[in-house]
Amino acid sequence: MADAPVRLRFAPSPTGHLHIGGARTALFNWLLARKLGGTFVLRLEDTDAERSTREFEREILRDLAWLGLIWDEGPDVGGPHGPYRQTERADLYRALAERLLASGHAYRCTCSPQRLEAVRAEALARGEKPRYDGHCRDLGLGPSCGPHVVRFRMPGDGVVAVHDLVKGPVEIRDEELDDFVLVRSDGLPTYNFAVVADDHGMGITHVLRGDDHLNNTPKQVHLYRALDAEPPRFGHMPLILGPDGKRLSKRHGATSVGAYRDLGFLPEALVNYLARLGWAHGDLELFDIDELVRVFSIEGIGTSAGRWDMDKLMWVNQHWIARLPVERVARDAAPFLAALGLTGPFDDSRAHLAVDAVRSRARTLVQVATMAAFCFLPDERLPYDDAAVRKFLVPDAAPLLETVLERLKRLPSWERASIEGAISEWLQASGLGLGAVAQPVRVAVTGSRVGPGLFETLEALGRDRSLARLERGLGMARDGALHGV
Ligand code: GLU
Repeated sequence: MADAPVRLRFAPSPTGHLHIGGARTALFNWLLARKLGGTFVLRLEDTDAERSTREFEREILRDLAWLGLIWDEGPDVGGPHGPYRQTERADLYRALAERLLASGHAYRCTCSPQRLEAVRAEALARGEKPRYDGHCRDLGLGPSCGPHVVRFRMPGDGVVAVHDLVKGPVEIRDEELDDFVLVRSDGLPTYNFAVVADDHGMGITHVLRGDDHLNNTPKQVHLYRALDAEPPRFGHMPLILGPDGKRLSKRHGATSVGAYRDLGFLPEALVNYLARLGWAHGDLELFDIDELVRVFSIEGIGTSAGRWDMDKLMWVNQHWIARLPVERVARDAAPFLAALGLTGPFDDSRAHLAVDAVRSRARTLVQVATMAAFCFLPDERLPYDDAAVRKFLVPDAAPLLETVLERLKRLPSWERASIEGAISEWLQASGLGLGAVAQPVRVAVTGSRVGPGLFETLEALGRDRSLARLERGLGMARDGALHGV
């Protein structure tokens, strides 16, 4: 058993978008599976028929794949322990419930909701924790007892002691647990029953999950014991908090993986940031996914909750925008460029130059797109910043622009180095500073006074458009007198 290959799983309920807390849980299980050379299973806990949809399911699979958390077994790829949707496993739950009934670890209960409510109210009135009073426990009800649930027969008054992989030793006294329901009256399994049936049936060896499930662990451990099976190793991680220290929720802003993609975050950045939220490796901050697989360890998971920090996520995103191959960043930026009404191509060498010129200053792909937009806009749609035009496209700038134009027109090739050479040579000879020339040129070709380096800008824009916009800027500078400047 000790060196049997590890098997981990992510078990989302397709009742909503993939939440960033869920994504972090998936990431940690995936990392451990990869680190230990094991298997990562995707299981859909879709027993809530009213709230589960195939649309959410598709979205969850898409978003996990976008993050790079690829599963080895799952509803779409199959595997030896399928099916991987709980709604398709009803026969397995039924058989397991029969087995627990036959071994006496479970019993049928016909108590009506009204009776259960009365028992509950009495306990509350006595100031006690409500629990099932065991009314049907020893009645020996058979399959034809009428509408019923199946309950677990909680043994005695012992203690469940587990060594949690994150929290260390945790003990829960049995007296805090009651005979919980395994199968509801509609025949559907409860969460605790289905999860044990599945983790057991799928050979899961380690479960990393949010500590909101810590309360369920003793019930699950009891079920494993009743099945004469070894429970997996559990590790419960602190939940993610918002900046105000309260549990992260919509109040704090975007909470789904898809929303962060739409805000212009790269999957590399989200994976990097989520890994560091609740796990540390010295004081290192930046990891790609392969490095994470190499250095990930359960010991690095912290016991205090991480707080969502948008500034830090932006900082990590900026790093990956600057560092990934430019073709990748341009591909991911393409939808954001298109959303600005720009037309491509966004994947040719010109587009790559444009993205490369702006990316070191962009914190999101939305910013990449807005900063690079000047390269994709047809000249007649280029917006000019009024104040910049009034300040820099003035009659005094006209002779400078004229000379720049003349020199650039003569260039045999259009690359950054030759553009820079042509302008620098002249600046040196004439004693002018780059500052005097750069701003009028920049405003002429981009419409704005802020932007990437001048030579990158001209290179990215290409010869024809640069020259056309310089001509136009020259015209505006000559007209500057009309503004009265
Ligand atoms: N479907 C459960 C959830 O989304 C899984 C819990 C577990 O990991 O056991 O919370």
